[in-house]
Amino acid sequence: MTHIILLGPPGAGKGTQAQMLVEDRNMIQLSTGDMLREAKDSGTEMGKIVADVMARGDLVTDETVIGLIREKLEGDKAGGFIFDGFPRTLAQADALTGLMAEQGEVLDHAIELQVDDDVLVDRIVGRAADAVAAGGTARADDNAESLKIRLMAYYKQTSPLIGYYHAKGLLKGVDGLGTMDGVKAEIAGVLDA
Ligand code: ADP
Repeated sequence: MTHIILLGPPGAGKGTQAQMLVEDRNMIQLSTGDMLREAKDSGTEMGKIVADVMARGDLVTDETVIGLIREKLEGDKAGGFIFDGFPRTLAQADALTGLMAEQGEVLDHAIELQVDDDVLVDRIVGRAADAVAAGGTARADDNAESLKIRLMAYYKQTSPLIGYYHAKGLLKGVDGLGTMDGVKAEIAGVLDA
């Protein structure tokens, strides 16, 4: 069983790669972004509280996301966990280390998807346009203004995790600019090494 974190800015491709790992390796994707959007769509108390914060592009509280993750770790572990969009702060990273230890598990890799900022903006603006063209609606935070705040949150609060996992010997950098299959192959190289 292999447990990994996918690290990287919004639009780096964490969700896409996580889904491929779920299909190929029977791993379980734990996306705090998806969990929070579900809470919002189902109108739970927590969903109502986080909706504005998310639409703006800021991070929700550590306590909220740590609670969501804690519940999931106690269930089925299948081929291992893919943490997608979590942890996003040093406090979350420390909490995750503790929660994994409680389960008798350890993290194997923190895989950083490296992508240039201008590509991120193009991908996210493109994703929003595609959603609208397909007759749906774009994510509330997939607009230029929220994206600026999301990128700032990434650089201020999340990018210190790169040093954190490097110091733990877990960091693996992957070029996120290749094709989906190219990136997938690079990640497979890390997992199968
Ligand atoms: P992206 O990686 O494209 O920004 P996500 O779906 O991972 O999107 O997250 C969407 C939003 O959900 C974030 O901008 C933030 O408001 C909230 N969120 C998700 N995960 C976390 C987290 N671990 N800590 C705090 N906020 C989070």
